Order: sequence, then structure tokens, then C-alpha cells
Amino acid sequence: MAAIVQDDTKKTSKSFETPVVKSEGTFFKERESLKRDVIDWTSANGLLVRNKDGVFTNCPITLIPSTFPQKVYVEACDVAMIFNRLVDRVSRDVPWLLEQLKDTAAGDDFIMKQIQICKKVHVEEMEEGSKTWKKQHLYLGLNRSDYMIHDPPPSEKDVSLFSSNEGQGGFLQVELNTIASSFGALSNKTCALHRFVLQRYEEASIECYKSIGNNNIDRIDSNRLPTTNNIEILSTGMAEAFKRYAKEVCRDENNQPKENIQKKYILFIVQENETNTVDQRMLEYELFYKHNIHVLRRSLTNLSKTAEIVVTSNVPKLYVDNKTKEICVVYFRDGYAPDAYPTNAEWDVRELIEKSYAVKCPSIAYQLVGAKKIQQALSVKGVLERYLSSNEVIKIRKCFAGLYELNDDSILAAIEHPEHFVLKPQREGGGNNFYGKDIPEQLKKMSKVERGAYILMQRIFPPPQNALMLTKTGKVNSAKALSELGIYGAYLGDGKSEYFNENAGHLLRTKVNGTDEGGVASGYAVLDSPYLVM
Ligand code: ADP
Ligand code: MG
Repeated sequence: MAAIVQDDTKKTSKSFETPVVKSEGTFFKERESLKRDVIDWTSANGLLVRNKDGVFTNCPITLIPSTFPQKVYVEACDVAMIFNRLVDRVSRDVPWLLEQLKDTAAGDDFIMKQIQICKKVHVEEMEEGSKTWKKQHLYLGLNRSDYMIHDPPPSEKDVSLFSSNEGQGGFLQVELNTIASSFGALSNKTCALHRFVLQRYEEASIECYKSIGNNNIDRIDSNRLPTTNNIEILSTGMAEAFKRYAKEVCRDENNQPKENIQKKYILFIVQENETNTVDQRMLEYELFYKHNIHVLRRSLTNLSKTAEIVVTSNVPKLYVDNKTKEICVVYFRDGYAPDAYPTNAEWDVRELIEKSYAVKCPSIAYQLVGAKKIQQALSVKGVLERYLSSNEVIKIRKCFAGLYELNDDSILAAIEHPEHFVLKPQREGGGNNFYGKDIPEQLKKMSKVERGAYILMQRIFPPPQNALMLTKTGKVNSAKALSELGIYGAYLGDGKSEYFNENAGHLLRTKVNGTDEGGVASGYAVLDSPYLVM
């Protein structure tokens, strides 16, 4: 197996240090005072992450929002609901999904394990005793589609492989996350912080922009900061799933809907040493205060000892804690990487959950749709048309970068022009891809089977702009930076009807130019907000 770096950086927190590229000027004192107010705001409003030792610090953020083209923002929002629908429809086309992943699974055990569960629960007859179990067709998707603006360098023209790309120019999709799409709640808070900064410290904000070379902003218009209701919409998606489950399943002995659903829960599957707890807790508190729904937080390892199925009238209900707590919805904030499954017990409980009647967010098939291999397979001509209308296809295809399986043509192009490619394994969480000169090196090492586990992607070149980045250690660094826009989507459907399909807000992450990777939890990027410009 080629070196797939299983550095699950959705989990690990490296300390964030950016190089200072601009010397501090006369504005330094005022900026330091603004910084102190910003740090207080993050504390007072919970814009916080934990360090490894458990201590909370401010989330790494930009001091002021970065400018971002309004047109791109609007177009990215416009496709959110289409991507939601696409994920759901592809996830229900299990034979197609499994066919696409055949070669990938041969070179990637983690994908293979997911496929085994998918086959067992959704394709093969369930084993004796569970054959008659009622199947849950309601799926909840809390997705996030990530984009970068593409400003192609002249040398891109030399890569003939790209000549047929329809997604040239404009903005391109980096990836589509279908499991554990994080930072929704903290992005909501970041937007509120930036609104506060711009409105409360208008003069200082303008000076901040000037200090990083942006002289175009001589007046602040906080309407240019789009509001984002991530917390509200993501948790409403979960609440809708909960209510539909409860209405159907929670009945008394006379088959009447039960009024009291206090002993029913939404289960958050989390890492034991999670550092991004605030981001998750905010969704939990919204569910509690707004929807009167209680959340349980458990790791997969804990669940492997405490979760069981109890069958009532053919409905395989999921319970924890000696069958005392019924789980209506399972929300995975873990389970996206191999180290969530240290033993077979974690895989067994994943299978148990998949078989149960609880609404999964995501189902195993949804998770597989988020694989980079499927992103590539969906870009093949004629495939999107299986799932979407022609109008929808046009909108979506515009933002597809060049995506390639590893064959003679793509490998040759990547060896000749490695600076124009990213080599990606089927992993989530950051820190796994290969860039530039590492690509030929890796390609040469791999066997044919191992190559099946990777895809090649056209490298996106976002235009750099300077940013002021506040680190977790309270330093402000001024650096040339690149931004990545994420648009969340919330979707609830059963294959026949769409019950909930919403754009669930945005996330802007900004990283120092020259850094290949881009995650916030992994320490590569900081949270930002888009200040929309023409
Ligand atoms: P992961 O699932 O690990 O988040 P991504 O595909 O999002 O994988 O890649 C991680 C980061 O690498 C992205 O956030 C982005 O900054 C960078 N990246 C990924 N694909 C590309 C690309 N095609 N061009 C430029 N940068 C990319
Ligand atoms: Mg990503």
C-alpha cells in the first residue's frame, strides 16, 4: 500500500503559526487594541476551540473579513440545494455507487469496510432473523461543498488534458463533504464577530484594510457581510428528522402518537478527545432550547459496548444504556477516518447503526458519495444526467475542476506538469493529499492496485490577497493568503419526497499563500467571513 498519510487532522490540532510578511507599521498600537477587543468577544460569545490540554482559546480567525466576489458567492449558494439532491439520489443508486468504487476498494481497506456494510445492509438479504426488519428510507444530509476561485496561470494552457474542462475560470469545487462537515456553528459566530468589528470599529477596520494594502475600502457597508443562519438551519434539519421519526415510531399501546418524547434522543457520535466541541455544542443547545430535543454525545468505542437494537413490531429501534434511551437520529461528527475504528468492535457498531431504524446523518451510502472517487466519477460526461435535470446539470458542471482516474494519460500529464495537479486518496480531514514534485514521486512508487485508491485533480489557483490573522496564541500575523468558501446544505428525504432542502449558510477559511492544505482544525487555515465586493 502506498503511503497514505493517515494524519487525521480533522482531529489533531497543530499550533497555527503564520510567517509575518509585512513589518508592523504605525497602525500597530490601534490594531493591538482592536485585537484585545476581538479576543474578549470570542470569549464572551463562544468563538472558541479547545487545545489538546483541554483549555479553551479563541478560534483562529481573521481580524477583519476578507473581500470576496459577490457573483461567486451568489452562484455557490445557488447550487447548494442541487448538490443536496444529487448526494441523496446517488446514495440511493447503490449498484452504480459500488461499481464506481470497485477498483478503489481493492486499494483502500477503509473504503472496502464501508462497502461491506453498504452491501450487507442495502444489497444482500439481511441475515436470518433480520430479514423482516423495517428499513429506514429517510436520510438526513448535512453537507458542505467547498470552492476556490480559479485564476489560471498561463502555464495551465500547456496541460492538454484540461482542454475539455467545462469548469475553466470562475470558481471550482474543491470537494463535497457528506460526513462531519464541521465549523458551521463557529462560522455563524465568526460572521457575528466581523459584523461587530465593522460596525463598532469602522475607522479601525478601514485602517486595517489599508494596512494590508487594500485601499479600495474607504467606507464600511456591513450589508456586504452576508448573514448566515448555519446553526438554525443545520439544527432544524436534525429536528425535522427527529420529529418525522418520532411521529411514525413513537406510539403508545393503542398506536396513538406519544406526546412525551423526552426519552428519545439525537445521538452525536464524537471523538473522545475532540477539540472542536463548541462547534458541536452550539447545535446541541439550539436543539434543546428551540426544539426541546435532547442530545447524547458518545464515541464509537463507547457505543460498541452500549448500543443495541430492540425490535418492536418489526422496527429495529436503536437504544443505548441498557435499552433505556431510544435514538431517533444519529449525527456523525466522527467515523470519517480509519482511526475512528481501532478495532472490529467500532465497525460492528457502525453496521448495527446502519441496520437500525434511526435516521442516519449520514447513511453509509451518503458517506461513500463523499469519496473523492465519486466526485471524479460524477464529472464523467453523461453521469450527472442520470440524477439531475439539464438545467441543474449546467449549473453544477460549471464548477467542476478537471478530475481524473489514474490512467496512462492522466499519469503522464501529472508527471509532466505536477504543479497543475493534486493527488488525492480517499481520505477526509486534511493533510492527506500530495502536491507538486511529491506527485511524480508517489505515482512511481504505486502499484496498479494502489493507484485505484487515488484520483488526480486539476490544481486550483485562487487569487491571493493579504489578510490579518489572529492565531490561537493571540498574535496577529499579516500574510498573503488564499480563501476557500464552503456552502452548507441540509437535506431530508426518503427517495420519494424531499421534506427539507436548504442552503444552510457559509464558511470562509483563509490560509497563508504557499500552504497546500486548508483545514482549520488541522491548523492550516483560520475562520474568515466574505465581505462581498463587485
Ligand atoms: P480533505 O477531505 O482532507 O479536506 P480536500 O480535498 O478538501 O481534502 O483537500 C484539503 C485542502 O487541500 C483543501 O482545503 C484545499 O486547501 C487544498 N486543495 C484540495 N484540492 C485542491 C485543488 N484541486 N487545488 C488546490 N488546492 C486544493
Ligand atoms: Mg476539505
